[in-house]
Amino acid sequence: MPKEKQILDVPDYMTVRELAELMHASPIEVMKQLIANGIMASINQQIDYDTAAIIIEEMGFTARPLREVEEEARRVELEAQRPKWRKELYEAEERTKLQRRPPVVTILGHVDHGKTSLLDAIRKTKVAEGEAGGITQHIGAYQVDHNGQTITFLDTPGHEAFTAMRARGAQGADIAILVVAADDGVMPTTREAINHARAAGVPIVVALNKVDKSNANPEVVKQQLSDLDLTPDEWGGNTLVVPVSAKTKMGLDNLMEAILLVSEEADIVANPNTKGGGVVLEGRTETGRGAIATLLVQNGTLRRGDVVVAGLSSGRIKMMFDERGRQIQEAGPSFPVSIMGLDTPPHAGDRFEVTKDVKEARALVETRQQESSSGESSAPQALTLEDFFRRMQQADAKELLLIIKVDVQGSLEPVVNSLEELTNNEVKVHILHADVGNITENDINLASASGAIVIGFNAEADTMAERAAASVGVEIRTYSVIYQMIEEVQKALKGMLDPVYEDKVIGLAEVRKVFKISKVGQVAGSYIRDGIARRNAKARILRNGKTLAENLSVSSLKRFEEDVREVRSGFECGISIDRFNDFHEGDLIEFVVRERVLI
Ligand code: GDP
Repeated sequence: MPKEKQILDVPDYMTVRELAELMHASPIEVMKQLIANGIMASINQQIDYDTAAIIIEEMGFTARPLREVEEEARRVELEAQRPKWRKELYEAEERTKLQRRPPVVTILGHVDHGKTSLLDAIRKTKVAEGEAGGITQHIGAYQVDHNGQTITFLDTPGHEAFTAMRARGAQGADIAILVVAADDGVMPTTREAINHARAAGVPIVVALNKVDKSNANPEVVKQQLSDLDLTPDEWGGNTLVVPVSAKTKMGLDNLMEAILLVSEEADIVANPNTKGGGVVLEGRTETGRGAIATLLVQNGTLRRGDVVVAGLSSGRIKMMFDERGRQIQEAGPSFPVSIMGLDTPPHAGDRFEVTKDVKEARALVETRQQESSSGESSAPQALTLEDFFRRMQQADAKELLLIIKVDVQGSLEPVVNSLEELTNNEVKVHILHADVGNITENDINLASASGAIVIGFNAEADTMAERAAASVGVEIRTYSVIYQMIEEVQKALKGMLDPVYEDKVIGLAEVRKVFKISKVGQVAGSYIRDGIARRNAKARILRNGKTLAENLSVSSLKRFEEDVREVRSGFECGISIDRFNDFHEGDLIEFVVRERVLI
């Protein structure tokens, strides 16, 4: 068989020298060939593709136009990019399936400003209309009709519930009604609520409540709202401020109008023609009925008989009810329902989805269980000041989000200003919320939901906040000197802040008997006196109160011949330590892990 000819990629024009180089031939040889074909050309003369191709063929190669090769490469590259535009096309197609859905509204505001009263007033006046005698059940949400349009109200007022849900990765509401009592005005929690709604990107409608009261002063409140960038539309701003009275039920229709007006501008849509999914509003167990979950359908249509996974709960929907306790067969987007049929009650804020069958549901729950026991979770990854720069480099973060708590009003402005001034061309320092007082669980929830860091200036975290921060991995940094705070944040923005680590003893074992095993060496038969012995921790050996050796690797940890990852206090186990074969009875082994310290 003749040897296959080598293929050479030839440009449209090239010099004689380049042609020679391409064939690894001498230019003289090429020039001779050219002369043989009647072409006189000097070494630096350009020849066209056709001429070059003739010479190439005569010298035993195959010519191929470089242009074609390049076009093919471009085609391949385009093909590689195609999934992206296909995806966009698909998304555009998906969008055409989207339809408007009722807005979901939550009520926020300061305590005693009338959130509960307003929810009740709306429910009583609007729900009962045309539904005489209709008893509403508490299912975490209810719907009202206004001029043929539906609005869904979430029943749990306050931004705490709202943000806790966001911290679990779900956003329940599309619009926030901020209740401000006209006789009391803007209060700390009002400001907090505004910032929580803003951090969630949820538009705010203000309900100026208690206008029936003689000491109501709506104009003062409007001024306070303007100072917080919620300028009423009658003053030329963008915020709808509706005077209402939950007591006399005055202004409720106007409030509904305002909600619908705002919802028209917001992109409140869903695809009703797909399987149902959304968020859990509540989970509880009722005697005789088992686990009851109230769900807000956010997309698709949920049907009786569907198999649902909600957090770590799953099951087939046996029965489904609306807010009036009526059995229903299906529920579309923005509809609140309660369902029976789950194996356990899910948690508020868990997302739910419909699976193909029970098998798929079980598999999904199992994966989630494994993830939660190995510490992985689908919740947004917590951010620390130290890794901010790294994420910034990866273009994950272009904004450093901060929540600031200070001890006294006088420090608020200087602290906020000095931190905001650190904004530069690459990164913006954005303060989600700043206020006077201790760091609370609310602050942690907001940080967790938004990927923010909490800074306390002469302000400490309360116990609940500390616990919450540890469990969701939110970073709290406290300072008492302004320049130190600025310096550290500045360092973080420049990627110069090094994490600080500290050794922490997590377990203590007492050596009770020493065994010698050939090839393995010494095994210390031990009793765990305190904490946990972990296979992947480092070991420190103590004898008579003195450290003999430390930073040693645990080469094996066994319970009854079986390798285990950890052994808890009160249990016995066999421990071998890498490169340590001098155990005595009575020695102590400390198990040490290196932990990042949050300053
Ligand atoms: P929440 O803490 O924000 O849920 O406030 P509530 O709904 O519990 O109301 C606090 C107090 O204000 C209660 O005593 C209500 O009766 C009263 N209240 C609520 N709305 C109005 C109103 O429009 N007018 C008057 N006069 N009192 C109201």
